[in-house]
Amino acid sequence: MLCPAMVGSEDAAKLGNMMDVTCGKAGFFEELNGRLHASQSKVKGVYLAGTCQAPMDIGQATSRAMAAAGYVLSGLAAGKKLVIEPITAAVDEERCSGCRICSGVCPYKAISFMPETETSRINALLCHGCGTCVAACPAGAIQGNHFTNDQILAEIEAILQ
Ligand code: SF4
Ligand code: SF4
Repeated sequence: MLCPAMVGSEDAAKLGNMMDVTCGKAGFFEELNGRLHASQSKVKGVYLAGTCQAPMDIGQATSRAMAAAGYVLSGLAAGKKLVIEPITAAVDEERCSGCRICSGVCPYKAISFMPETETSRINALLCHGCGTCVAACPAGAIQGNHFTNDQILAEIEAILQ
């Protein structure tokens, strides 16, 4: 018997918009990394399991669900402190014009706009330090921690000497 093709749910995009989780072209939710973090979405704290990710059998879906439960339980361990990635980006609010270009390019939805100051701000818990916003900001108002422009220029100069 032939199995008909599976496509993502019609409501997946709507649900994804509510949680800032992205869907691929076929309508399935995208994971952070298909091999290393297959049960984690690109938004920290939102986990995936089952055929919302891709067509899969019951065994695969159960394994993904157990991995997702493990992520949640490990984050809730009593006394555990949240560890923030050292490589994140930060906005210099003095230079920020509030154009919001950065929030449109961040793949991890880590940037929000602060109406009270009319500037953008990066949530270090959600930032993965990819550097996309650093390159996109027309005002040069975003720096990558540990990868500032001065540090990168110093490295280039040292290599060229
Ligand atoms: S792109 Fe730069 S100037 Fe525009 S809102 Fe983001 S940080 Fe501010
Ligand atoms: S460095 Fe990457 S993940 Fe972090 S705020 Fe900028 S675009 Fe988002």
